[in-house]
Amino acid sequence: MVERVLIGDDMMRAGAFRIPAPSRGSTFDEDDLDAVRMVLEGSGALTAGVHRDAFERAMADYVGCAHAVTTTSGTVALELAIRLLDLQQGDEVIVTAQTFHATAQSLLDSPATVRFCDVDADTLNMDPAALERLTNPRTRAVMLVHYGGVIADMTRIVEIAHAAGALVIEDCAHALGARSLRGRPGALADIGCFSFHSSKNISTLGEGGLVTLRDADLADRLRRVRDNRNDVVVADRATMEPIEKLIDAAPRTVYGEEWNHVISQVRRAGTNATMSEAAAAVGLVQLRRVDGLVARRTKIANALADVVRAHDGMRVQSVPVGTTSAHHLFTFFCEHGGDTRDAVIRGLERESVQMRLRYAPLHLAPEWRLRGHGLGDCPVAERDWFERHLNLPCHPGMRDDDVEYLAESLDRVLGRI
Ligand SMILES: *Cc1c(COP(=O)(O)O)cnc(C)c1O
Repeated sequence: MVERVLIGDDMMRAGAFRIPAPSRGSTFDEDDLDAVRMVLEGSGALTAGVHRDAFERAMADYVGCAHAVTTTSGTVALELAIRLLDLQQGDEVIVTAQTFHATAQSLLDSPATVRFCDVDADTLNMDPAALERLTNPRTRAVMLVHYGGVIADMTRIVEIAHAAGALVIEDCAHALGARSLRGRPGALADIGCFSFHSSKNISTLGEGGLVTLRDADLADRLRRVRDNRNDVVVADRATMEPIEKLIDAAPRTVYGEEWNHVISQVRRAGTNATMSEAAAAVGLVQLRRVDGLVARRTKIANALADVVRAHDGMRVQSVPVGTTSAHHLFTFFCEHGGDTRDAVIRGLERESVQMRLRYAPLHLAPEWRLRGHGLGDCPVAERDWFERHLNLPCHPGMRDDDVEYLAESLDRVLGRI
């Protein structure tokens, strides 16, 4: 009997396509293997060590932000960033409508009210004019994504958010490798959240994340929430103090003379979400390679954009002047409307190209509709999704002949509509 391996539907489908949707966003070679080998063959702990610290420093330098704190995923990075806000009932958080659900997932059980912000039709990034209509004195945070690696209008967004007294959180899951005249994503606002998931521009063995922060106090608080570290180590019986005094005591370390008398205290809710040494060591190797990986994405995106531009009524996602895209996604638009857009999707699938559209507007997801959001809240994002939106595979794992085939198929399909 043939043994059957259980794999997801998407993987099953992927195997049937000449150009499958990518399961990996990066490439790996001997250097990545050496990094893992070096960690495993050493004798140090496999976590919270020199590689994690080195990767955090390297990311802080690359991004141009003072502090960087690794996490186990991008979702956890966003969740911990939100936790820093200590949201209460009556607080409001504004979230871009065009994003992956992880951006706002930790807000599902938050006491705060979520408001979804419409996007700009050319970039699919948060529209500052729409943001301006949503901010008010209750706004505590604005969460945006640099959709597909294209940098959002940060000057205006930060100005509007800060005027309302709100922090700005950049979801940089797509944006590693992008650049603007004012700096890189993750350094353009207060807090940046990165993902090193398998599908992202670089990966730390399949899962991983990181938070960048400008403010040293916030960074310190984030580290305390991220690491299940003791804040206070209380001494032995001789120095045991009344409990009321301990609760308010400043963090300090008092060592007892006998190890078994040491009692430690955890002063706030937290978790353990630090990156393992092997993952961080690979992250360092990947980060050294990121500009080359993004250059390859750019080359593929340019080849596809040339085809799109040669056809009437077709338009490529805009990259604002003074910025470069990290090209995490290749996004284009069919101006002819719903039926024609759907014909493009079917045509490409017949050419054996796996179409995976990213993403349905978040306010239309059942979990948010159950919380009072729905059709009509963000008309630009909705019109894009239902009538125009198209994505194509674009990642460094594609060979030259894959790119050639994809460009030719696209030209054939667009030529027929
Ligand atoms: C991938 C992604 C995340 C979540 O990252 P994980 O590392 O997979 O948890 C968050 N936001 C966006 C926009 C993403 O694409």
